[in-house]
Amino acid sequence: MSDPGAALPLRVAVVGSGPAAFYAAGHLLASTDPVAEVDMIERLPTPWGLVRLGVAPDHPNLKTVSRAFERIAERPGFRFFGNVEVGQDVSHAELMDLYDAVVYAVGAQTDRRLGIPGEDLPGSWAATELVAWYNGHPDFQDLPFDLSGERAVVIGNGNVALDVARMLALTREELGPTDTTDAAIEAIAGSGIREIVVLGRRGPVQAAWTPTELQEMGELAGADVLVDPSELELDPASDAELDGASNIVRRNVEILRGFAARKPTIKPRIVRLRFRVSPVAILGNERVEGVEIVKNRLEPDGKGSVRAVATDEREAISSGLVFRSVGYRGVQLPGTPFDEASGTLPNADGRVLDESGMPLPGVYAAGWIKRGPTGVIGTNKKDATETVDHLLEDARAGRLPRVESQASIEDLLAEREVEAVMYAGWTAIDAHERARGEGQGRPRVKLCTWGELLAAARD
Ligand code: NAP
Repeated sequence: MSDPGAALPLRVAVVGSGPAAFYAAGHLLASTDPVAEVDMIERLPTPWGLVRLGVAPDHPNLKTVSRAFERIAERPGFRFFGNVEVGQDVSHAELMDLYDAVVYAVGAQTDRRLGIPGEDLPGSWAATELVAWYNGHPDFQDLPFDLSGERAVVIGNGNVALDVARMLALTREELGPTDTTDAAIEAIAGSGIREIVVLGRRGPVQAAWTPTELQEMGELAGADVLVDPSELELDPASDAELDGASNIVRRNVEILRGFAARKPTIKPRIVRLRFRVSPVAILGNERVEGVEIVKNRLEPDGKGSVRAVATDEREAISSGLVFRSVGYRGVQLPGTPFDEASGTLPNADGRVLDESGMPLPGVYAAGWIKRGPTGVIGTNKKDATETVDHLLEDARAGRLPRVESQASIEDLLAEREVEAVMYAGWTAIDAHERARGEGQGRPRVKLCTWGELLAAARD
């Protein structure tokens, strides 16, 4: 157990390198009692998680948060180990031997399932696969999206659904100045898609998206947004919910009513926002041919909102392309506990718990793997700060299993011939990408294969 007066800095591994990981690292490095050093361990050769590979490329302002992460990375005591996979190159147990504490900030690596027939037919994709593809994630570049059909269906009413619908509707001129991959720009700008239908199972009051993102849908150069006014009519429970709702919800409803009052122009594409409809099956034999939907009525759920209840009214939408956008889901890391129901690391305010509900000494969680896939980038600051405050409190109280061993992660990786990409390797990748973008008026042109990324890091 730790000696509170120990002069040695606390050695902490932060696993993951997205917003929660960087906010955790920043708070640890700012600590003076105890002083802490951070090794950030990331599976990819590149840091920033969803800021690089999730945020839509036509939202460059959201990506500028990476400057704050760069400042954290420059602080003494910080090291980045990219291209190192926990569970593969180094185990959880080994990390516990090497570090006084481990903070898992690995996000939510997969998508929630709909659980309907046809979900796995070719042509039915997780929205997150398209997001990873257009953002240049090296594991998603070979996915054979067929954008030749006239209609795409996006299931869900969150911001990811809006991102996907909007990205599919952007023109070449809109995509041109972004860091969308060249292959995705070509495929989207040249696609056959004329209509993108977004399906919400509940009503406009319950949509999970935010007004800025919704408003943008009405400002696209190459697509009109259409909403059927009858689908915006509110049942009594939704009406009551709207009365007590946040400004975000009120603004969403106002924007949608504005959209419903619009007349379509002659833009080449349409984004159609639909409400009170649930997919019951993805249709097709060899591949997706359509989506069968059922109309819903909304009933009070007893918690101040409404739930969708299927009626007998069904409809088929013909489409060869479906994106399921009903939320992310966390994945279990080998050797750590997991809560199947929520897809998170079981924890009490960031302290990871064992099967009996007791804190596992030295193991912490931050971000989506701690609280589930909700909130915006900034939400992770408060979340990670809470976790690190508990870690530091445990350190001061002598509750951490402090490491006596002289072994280092560098030796372990060298022994296993794992080629870690250190922070200097990442800055080489970054400089390379920015230089490629400069002549084209783009923030960067991403390297999007493992080979290119590792070669640039070696430079
Ligand atoms: P989300 O906000 O949780 O939205 C999920 C949507 O899926 C909800 O509309 C939900 O409807 C619907 N859904 C769930 N199960 C369904 C089912 N079986 N059938 C039909 N619909 C179903 O998730 P997300 O869009 O993946 O976003 C994740 C987080 O990232 C959110 O906090 C989001 O705001 C954030 N994000 C932010 C931005 C941005 O700020 N620009 C961009 C992208 C993502 P119910 O409400 O009825 O369950």
